[in-house]
Amino acid sequence: MSAEVIYGSELAESLRNQMKEEVGELKNKGIVPGLTVVLIGEDPASQSYVRGKQKACDYVGVESNLIELPSSTTEKELLNLISKLNSDQTVHGILVQLPLPNHINEQAIIEAISPEKDVDGFHPINIGRMIAGKDTFFPCTPFGIITMLKSKNIPIEGKKAVVIGRSNIVGKPVGQLLLNENATVTYCHSRTENMQEYTKDADILIVAVGRANFLSGEDIKEGAVVIDVGVNRMEDGKLTGDVEFDSAKEKAAYITPVPKGVGPMTITMLLHNTIKSAKQFNQ
Ligand code: NAP
Repeated sequence: MSAEVIYGSELAESLRNQMKEEVGELKNKGIVPGLTVVLIGEDPASQSYVRGKQKACDYVGVESNLIELPSSTTEKELLNLISKLNSDQTVHGILVQLPLPNHINEQAIIEAISPEKDVDGFHPINIGRMIAGKDTFFPCTPFGIITMLKSKNIPIEGKKAVVIGRSNIVGKPVGQLLLNENATVTYCHSRTENMQEYTKDADILIVAVGRANFLSGEDIKEGAVVIDVGVNRMEDGKLTGDVEFDSAKEKAAYITPVPKGVGPMTITMLLHNTIKSAKQFNQ
């Protein structure tokens, strides 16, 4: 079997074109969706992610505002800024680019953002709503993954889903969203014993570890759906995922590539959440 490759880049493009039209219609009604991104320090990877987000905002017509602050910014200064953004009516989404410098408590910052403007979906209230199965801002990478599965009409209900990785931004929420779709979900992590027992049994395998070639075709069940979340920069500068693509492609029914897989969907769901927030504020 040779898997169908799910190009998140193609789905992202088509969704962004739909969003562009929707934003145009909102603007005709005087509603301009606005996203403010706060970037602390000069980490090149964060700068590049932020540029990608701004470019995507520009494309669909979301008003994006980048606030860049030095790494010496104190937690109090950042909290004061968030408080101002929370009460600014032109701001529908607030995103503080992670990771933050060590002297700033990340959780305190996440919890300071108004849940109504938490377009990253990291606030405990939004996480709680997601766990309760309610509609809310879902974290962008997991939401993008579910959207990709649905775009291909891949059945989730009743399927064995295995998630490798249990971070708060990817592993845990993607497992929760799969559970909400009635999958039977197992999480694997660095303390899991005999991991291949789980991976080889998975109908849907989500890999979010951050290690190049962590899994290969021999770890995968024939006909599985493989979603590779990992982004690893190799010595030659190229990006690669967590899954050895060529061998996995021969076993899987569907597989996502890196790049052009999950990554473009993450930013697209951020746009989705920002537009949703703008509509909610104007209801
Ligand atoms: P993370 O916070 O570092 O979490 C990695 C997870 O992998 C942890 O839960 C860890 O387990 C687990 N793990 C590490 N070594 C393992 C091993 N040997 N066996 C089994 N599990 C192991 O990373 P993350 O933020 O979730 O990101 C994961 C990857 O996805 C990274 O490559 C990141 O760049 C990428 N990513 C991509 C996007 C996108 O839009 N494409 C978005 C976010 C992240 P423990 O909990 O036990 O330590």
